[in-house]
This record gives sequence, structure tokens and C-alpha cells, in this order.
Amino acid sequence: MKAAEAGAHAQRVRGVRERIAAAARHAGRDPADIELIAVSKTKPTGDILSVYNAGVRAFGENRTEEFEAKALAITDRPDLQWHFVGHLQTRQSLVVAQHAHCFHALDRLKIARRLSAQLDDLGRGLEVFVQVNISGEMSKSGFACADWERAPGQLHALGDVLRTIAELPHLDLRGLMTMAPLAAPEPRLRELFSSLARLSGRLADDLPELDARALSMGMSGDYEIAVEAGATHVRVGTAIFGPRG
Ligand SMILES: *Cc1c(COP(=O)(O)O)cnc(C)c1O
Repeated sequence: MKAAEAGAHAQRVRGVRERIAAAARHAGRDPADIELIAVSKTKPTGDILSVYNAGVRAFGENRTEEFEAKALAITDRPDLQWHFVGHLQTRQSLVVAQHAHCFHALDRLKIARRLSAQLDDLGRGLEVFVQVNISGEMSKSGFACADWERAPGQLHALGDVLRTIAELPHLDLRGLMTMAPLAAPEPRLRELFSSLARLSGRLADDLPELDARALSMGMSGDYEIAVEAGATHVRVGTAIFGPRG
């Protein structure tokens, strides 16, 4: 890692943190309530350590093979926490059970049950976010909830899913995660993120025993909007690591 690159990483981390803090204050929130996850997918371990040295402790990956290689390569940073943010194939779940601190894209009960059993064998716990499809886009995975305000059936179905997951041993249900449509204009992004925040509030009212109010939403292009709408976890790649090749 050249000194100039390390300096660029540190500067970008500082810039993103400042923008998160400004967006939080603008919304009357405490910047300390927002966790920054640096999405390091496709980037070498040297870049991860440089961002770690800039103070970031949470790193996001989205492919199991790459994630496993990096988790096995960086063993001397016990406070570095891995967040798996991508779609997870059933047969690849063990890597997440073994190495992840948090899984953001839980989109099937089958995966939840399998992870719970694997974690039991390993004697580990795992924080999870349930992925929801708030936009209704066909290409997006996650439990359907785009019509939750008009269709109570969607709200109740999601509530059932959350209750089932919360009861599985070794899974610590933190809240909901979503991915906004990439090309959506700002007003649409605000509407979608706000809808998810309202949905989270509604679920907290209906199912207070769940205690799963965290919201994983916002990426490089929209994290400030997400923070204004209530995000507690933002997943930022490009704005920290630079463009992916
Ligand atoms: C890649 C990725 C991100 C980060 O994307 P950027 O636009 O580079 O910030 C966030 N979340 C998920 C699920 C991703 O796959």
C-alpha cells in the first residue's frame, strides 16, 4: 500500500463520515446511531487494511469465495467485523456462518434455518437483517412489501417471517434491509426509504417483542437520503474504495 493511496482512503472515509453526520443532524438524529459498513467487494486486502487504519471496523462482502479468502487472510485484526451483504446460495451458507458478524440479505426462511443449525455446530451467533423488496421491482430479491400500506396481507406475512426468524437459535434479528433501484430519482428514493422506515415503526408497534428496529439502507449514491430517512446501517463501497474495475 503506497502512502498516497492510504491517504486517499483516509480522506474518503473522513468525507463519507462528515456527510453521514451532516445528514443525521439535518434529520435531528445523532450521528453516533449510524454504522458505516465499508463494502470492500472486489478490492484487495491491502485496501481493506488501509481503510481499517482510517478507523473503519465493519467491512462488507457479497461473494462467498472472495469473502472466505479475505476472512482467512486477515486474522490479526480481532475487532474487524465482516458483514455479508450479498445474495447467499443455500449450499454456500457455511462460509457466512463461520466468518460473518452480520448477514444483511436474509431473504428465505430456508437459509435462516440452515444458518441457525450451522451456527449451533460452530457455537457462534450471527446478526441478521431480513431483506425486503420495497420498490416492487421484479429484479430485486427480498420479501415483498412494496404494497404494505395498502395490503395488510403483506404486512402480516412479513411479521410472521420476522417472528419465525427471531425464534431461531443463534440468529440475532436486527431489522430490515433494502436495496433501492439504482437509477431512481431522489424523490422516489426518499419515498422508498421513508416507506421502509414507517414499515419498521409499524412492525415495532405490532410486534414489540421483536426489538428489531435497525435499518440497513443506503449505498454510495444514496446514503445521505437513507440517513435522513432513518438508516442505522449504511453500506458504502465506491465512495470509500473508489470505482470497481
Ligand atoms: C456493492 C454493494 C453495496 C455498495 O455499493 P456502492 O454503490 O459501491 O456503494 C452496498 N450494498 C450491497 C448489497 C452491495 O452489493
